[in-house]
Amino acid sequence: MAKEYLNFINGKFVPAKSGKVYENRNPADTDDLIGTFPSSGPEDVAEAVAAAKAAYPAWRALPVPKRGEIIRRATEILIRRKEELARLMTREMGKVLKETRGDVQEAIDTGLYAAGESRRLWGKVVPSELPNKAAFVTRQPMGVWGMICPWNFPMAIPSWKLFPALICGNTAVIKPATLTPASVHEFVSALTEAGVPAGVVNIVYGEGAVVGEALLNHPDVCGISFTGSSAVGKRIAEVCGKQLKRCSLELGGKNAQIVLNDADLSLALEGVIWGAFGTTGQRCTATSRLIVQSGVHDEFLEMVVERAKRLKVGNGLDETVEMGPLVSEGQRQTVHSYVEIGRAEGARLVCGGEPLRGEGYDKGFFYKPTVFAGVKPGMRIAQEEIFGPVLSVIRVESFDEAIEVLNGTMYGLSSSIYTRDINLAMKAIEKIEAGITYVNAPTIGAECHLPFGGVKATGNGHREGGWTAYEIFSELKTVYIDYSGALQKAQIDTAEE
Ligand code: NAD
Repeated sequence: MAKEYLNFINGKFVPAKSGKVYENRNPADTDDLIGTFPSSGPEDVAEAVAAAKAAYPAWRALPVPKRGEIIRRATEILIRRKEELARLMTREMGKVLKETRGDVQEAIDTGLYAAGESRRLWGKVVPSELPNKAAFVTRQPMGVWGMICPWNFPMAIPSWKLFPALICGNTAVIKPATLTPASVHEFVSALTEAGVPAGVVNIVYGEGAVVGEALLNHPDVCGISFTGSSAVGKRIAEVCGKQLKRCSLELGGKNAQIVLNDADLSLALEGVIWGAFGTTGQRCTATSRLIVQSGVHDEFLEMVVERAKRLKVGNGLDETVEMGPLVSEGQRQTVHSYVEIGRAEGARLVCGGEPLRGEGYDKGFFYKPTVFAGVKPGMRIAQEEIFGPVLSVIRVESFDEAIEVLNGTMYGLSSSIYTRDINLAMKAIEKIEAGITYVNAPTIGAECHLPFGGVKATGNGHREGGWTAYEIFSELKTVYIDYSGALQKAQIDTAEE
């Protein structure tokens, strides 16, 4: 019997007011029904926002280290339940167990960092220009935050948002991606078990165009933290802009790995295979373009194709599998349509390029690891985010051309360069237009205590992760204390007078 999941509002599990539900199935085996989830509407969002608003005064009044203590306890629950949560995540999202364990671990690391941050949350003390006057800057909570999540990091991304927002003293309504709601249910259960009071975190499941829109537009929501596609991100920015709401946008990418003539090719090979085919290419930081200098191009292409063909694809619950299915049939169709576009544009398909069928594959959304060679920088497969196991290989003559090609898309999330030349590595760090640059490491693998995000169409300048997340979820308050006992006028009273 499939589990019936319910919205979580004001500490209670409740169905959508409409009574409608949708099914969540395993993308590796569609016979495996994980559960049904409410298909909610604006009325459910309104109730959740009201609960978060009512819970806000008491939560913000709690000393920050006390909030941190609750987060630490939640993290301990995640540590205890890590294996079970990873298995559930592989069932609902498809990525292999090693990676779902990593996803839960990222939530754990983010929680431990947040608990530590609760004893800092530093402001600044600054000298006043006037005598007998103190000046400092402190951080204040903001109110009810709306959080809208994608499906590719079902627990890590909600943790990037919820942990710092809660430490800062906000309450929240979270809308999980429709494809990976069970992981958010479990994550919030850990928070509740750890002592997060009723109403502080609420979950409303359902469609982005319905639940997401209602959350965006609700006047009592002070900010939106959104991770997802650039197309939806623009919509979020538009609505938030009109209402002067803060929004943090973590959007798409078209990340590239550069391999120069002097690179350690075996190392670069491991990097590109992990970067391009890890998470079945469904990472915002996935390596979607491989830019190879001509001196090693043919040799390296052969190495990549040989390794890609040998990748073991299958159900991520099998420990020996290296690449799971795509998350949905829709995603598989999108990937395949890009393969057809690549062919039509004149790129040379050197491996993969079709769904995997046959025993063990027919009930899931499997796709072969795919490599295109002879890709030109302007082709659509070199410009648009595919979000699947498709690698476009571009040949370049020089370092300068490599950087130009890397920078030649609208995105700017992650980037990588393999070289043994420190001078070129340093020049690349300077010239690459991206929020993240790796040297001799793949485009994926961010650590939770550092800022994460991108430039250009990848975001709007905020960085979730690390200390910068706390800047998103708090307001600065500048405080002046005059203890002179007299009226002192800044800019007008001077020392000489
Ligand atoms: P998506 O943009 O389709 O959906 C993201 C979320 O937005 C979902 O919860 C969806 O239901 C909701 N949504 C859709 N329309 C909405 C609307 N009109 N109003 C409000 N909410 C709405 O993205 P996805 O397919 O879930 O995820 C893949 C995308 O996410 C890729 O583009 C990927 O690069 C990006 N991503 C970015 C990062 C990052 O940190 N930069 C991390 C992971 C994923």
